[in-house]
Amino acid sequence: MFRAPRGTQDILPDEANRWRRLEAAARGWAELYGYGEIRTPTFEELGLFLRGVGEATDIVEKEIYAFQDKGGDWLALRPEETAPVVRAYLQHGLFNRPQPVKLYSIVNVFRYDRPQAGRFREFRQLNCEALGEDDPIVDAELAALLWRFLEDLGLRDLSLQLNSIGDSVCRPGFVEALVAYYREHLDKICPDDRRRLETNPMRLLDCKQPRCQPVIEGAPRTVDYLCGPCAEHFGRLQAYLADEGLAHQINPRLVRGLDYYTRTVWEVWPPEAGAQSTLGGGGRYDGLAEQLGGRPTPAVGFAAGLERILLTLEKQGLAPGEAESGLAFLAPLGQPAKRELNRLADRLRRRGVPATVGTGDRSLKALLRQANAIGARWALVMGDQELAEGKVAVRDLRTSEQRGLPVEAIVDELAREVLA
Ligand code: AMP
Repeated sequence: MFRAPRGTQDILPDEANRWRRLEAAARGWAELYGYGEIRTPTFEELGLFLRGVGEATDIVEKEIYAFQDKGGDWLALRPEETAPVVRAYLQHGLFNRPQPVKLYSIVNVFRYDRPQAGRFREFRQLNCEALGEDDPIVDAELAALLWRFLEDLGLRDLSLQLNSIGDSVCRPGFVEALVAYYREHLDKICPDDRRRLETNPMRLLDCKQPRCQPVIEGAPRTVDYLCGPCAEHFGRLQAYLADEGLAHQINPRLVRGLDYYTRTVWEVWPPEAGAQSTLGGGGRYDGLAEQLGGRPTPAVGFAAGLERILLTLEKQGLAPGEAESGLAFLAPLGQPAKRELNRLADRLRRRGVPATVGTGDRSLKALLRQANAIGARWALVMGDQELAEGKVAVRDLRTSEQRGLPVEAIVDELAREVLA
């Protein structure tokens, strides 16, 4: 027997309902903030991610699904969506439009990660990017978008963690201080950190090893090294967040490892924060477009994990409210009734009422059990007597109330209720 590959999941109809509602809400919030949808390919040239995510990152070093196709080209399943969006922005000359260009997408992404609760190899993200603008009001807008979306789902006790990591003017001074500090603590850090000290010192700050935590605690903080323009940007960002009533915590340990990340970094954490629980995170990447061969383009964005959001909803007892099913289950008792109900089902569907006809030759009890099992709203029962009278017994499966209605009246009656 085959099974879905490790770290992937099938989404069956009940679960798919929750997904559709979550995705509809995500879409709704992105559009409320003026973001337009972009859809990019599931795979890209591998080189896009080597440059656009960075070769010295876990995503590229350990997690990317890369393959050579039959034509010999190296491709990769997208491990994230920012680089593809920037690629599309450059490819289609979107920089010629009034800036910023605001784009969102809901995409599946792929990472060869170690599967565990909240960590998959194929997962889904809401991704929002604003390209071509350095005004910190856009940074604030993106954080607000994710925050309001999560709040509207009913999630409680979230926290917005915020940091600024400076830019090419002030970051070198910080990195120098960080490296000097770590050189004095070499005996206390993990082997990975010793490597990071050479390859990617910013990432020392998000090492998860317990033994490295005290060293991180005492490390220099990016916010203490910001140059004037970065400090002003950060100050204005915080003021805009305050205008919208969004509380945040400054977290000096939030970093991004690569040079094209600048200034703003943030994450939204659920109450029981841990490496597997971050709901979403974003930041500014003013150097990325140039890294991908474009002109310098300030930009900022975020990605939020939809599986994580569903898990957190569940933990908080909030599985996104079951939408009313307007499904009619037509329960025939006998072949002539089945013909009549088959015709009725067709008329219902054409009026927008979901309808399904009971199959085989089953008892009323078995038919009603099935109607309940598939979450139908009504059972429309017809046996010989109803057939002779031109009627259907309409049972409301929520209340178990039953009434007889003429076949002629049913389509109008149910359409009215479903479309109300
Ligand atoms: P990142 O692109 O790494 O900043 O991730 C953005 C968001 O995607 C995270 O905050 C998580 O909510 C989610 N995420 C990242 N990796 C995984 C994974 N392996 N499985 C499920 N969700 C993930």
